[in-house]
Amino acid sequence: IRNKIVDIEKMEILSHLSASISHEVRNGLTGAKGFMQLLKENESDFQKQKYIGIALGELERSEFIIRDFLTFAKPAPEKIEKINMEHFLNYIIELVSPISNMNSIKVKKSLSPFWVIGDRRIIQQAFLNIFKNAIEAMPNGGQLGISVKSHKDMYEISIEDTGVGMDSEQIERLGKPYFTTRGQKGTGLGMMVAYRVIEELNGKIKVTSQIGKGTTFTIYLPSSFHNSENVIIDPSVRNVEHN
Ligand code: ADP
Ligand code: MG
Repeated sequence: IRNKIVDIEKMEILSHLSASISHEVRNGLTGAKGFMQLLKENESDFQKQKYIGIALGELERSEFIIRDFLTFAKPAPEKIEKINMEHFLNYIIELVSPISNMNSIKVKKSLSPFWVIGDRRIIQQAFLNIFKNAIEAMPNGGQLGISVKSHKDMYEISIEDTGVGMDSEQIERLGKPYFTTRGQKGTGLGMMVAYRVIEELNGKIKVTSQIGKGTTFTIYLPSSFHNSENVIIDPSVRNVEHN
């Protein structure tokens, strides 16, 4: 038993450490990328421009890895609050709207209020990863549907895309670290984080997909509250980190 406790402590130290390292490294990367972009814009030499482009690509890739991993390495301290999920989902939709607009994706939502208790930043990362995957699956446009249904003891959140879809082998591998079909642009960490987070909320994820037709992620979360009577904390979007 003693050894086990020590191991858990070590894991916690490790995860806090990697969270703070991630933050630091990300700041550095963002700064370096900004300067490289400036260099590239003002460079007339074609060859040099090409090299800068390659460097920018590598920086970006490192940034993706850090970004997708950030939540997995839990930042300390956790902040548990009561989250109004209707506001929360609207905010996630807003966050991804630059990429959904760019891909000419129509967003259709049917939301209703419900509440979840948890760490907002971590839950946000999970949903962002799922939303981004749905959008990335529709490079030539399509429809992103977000809907909420309430059941007796749980809520059902569906995120539906009309994208490329997945076969059963892909679905099987979903959530395993480094599984990606997006080549250099993918990290294969997004779904791993999403699965972990939903699991921690005592929820479940169901995936249905058809190649060429689209994919639906259905997330089941136990309902923390059945009505809006005692909502104390209203989500303040100002506190939510953009990434
Ligand atoms: P990444 O997005 O970096 O590839 P993820 O863990 O987020 O890593 O996703 C892993 C893989 O799962 C993706 O590369 C893609 O093949 C598949 N995938 C996830 N969501 C969808 C979706 N909505 N439609 C089609 N494929 C998806
Ligand atoms: Mg992803």
